Amino acid sequence: MSLKVWFDGQLVDKEKAIVSVYDHGLLYGDGVFEGIRAYSGRVFELDAHVRRLFDCAKAIRLNCPYSPEQIKAAINETVSANGFTDCYIRPVISRGPGDLGIDPRKAPRPLTFIIADQIVMYPKEMYEKGIAVVTSSWTRNLINATSTRIKSLNYLNNIMAKQEAGDAGAHDALVLNHLGHVSELSAANVFTVRDGVITTPPLIDGCLEGVTRNAIMKLAGKAGIRCVEQSISRFDVYVADEFFATGTGVEVIPITQVDQRQIGAGQAGPITRRLVEAFHNHVREG
Ligand code: PMP
Repeated sequence: MSLKVWFDGQLVDKEKAIVSVYDHGLLYGDGVFEGIRAYSGRVFELDAHVRRLFDCAKAIRLNCPYSPEQIKAAINETVSANGFTDCYIRPVISRGPGDLGIDPRKAPRPLTFIIADQIVMYPKEMYEKGIAVVTSSWTRNLINATSTRIKSLNYLNNIMAKQEAGDAGAHDALVLNHLGHVSELSAANVFTVRDGVITTPPLIDGCLEGVTRNAIMKLAGKAGIRCVEQSISRFDVYVADEFFATGTGVEVIPITQVDQRQIGAGQAGPITRRLVEAFHNHVREG
């Protein structure tokens, strides 16, 4: 049986979910998207993800023809139509098909679609051993250029960093902003651990307001672990006791090598382990 994609209001076979070559999402990267997971038959933080999707759409003046409530229902419908209990979900709102030229008024009706599928990130052992990252030579977009708060179809800055990391034999890239402050990885937030305190860069340093980031900050608070939002430099990362990344795709993963420096003991540290466990319990709570 073919995978079903929710395509502008209808569930269609994956093969029939086809976008026009005139779609401004494809031609100009004009659109927004989300990455969401379902665990044990329940979509994790559905409200937060749909809120971010609509906030991002508002920021680029993209009027989705569906309401947030309709999109939430469509997400649930897509997951169940495919019989998934655990999956990755990708809603996209593109500016839609239109005449050539970047003016959004040329594309009168945005195109909305939702994919539910499996996603392969890292093999299981990396969650124990940790991943290696290198600092990217690509600076994070300025927040007053293409705002890093917007999860837009313009992911080239992130893709170039990821590609560079692969070329260097690393798993991902540590991306800095124009001031040299750590922003995040190519598509995940980061946290350092030092003397029992966890620190994550503030949004103004060029990172996305990650749903997983927010969940980890809450879970840390519940576990009595102090968590601060504060600018960090590469030096702070090099001398951290532990370093880890968070995101819907990677979930919570230790980072044990940065620019050829070993972080901590070179494997998942005690606070990272506690938070990984708390996170996995949390996502499956009813
Ligand atoms: N930063 C960027 C640039 C991302 O694309 C993502 C993935 N959405 C994240 C951080 C992590 O955010 P979340 O936890 O909401 O998936």
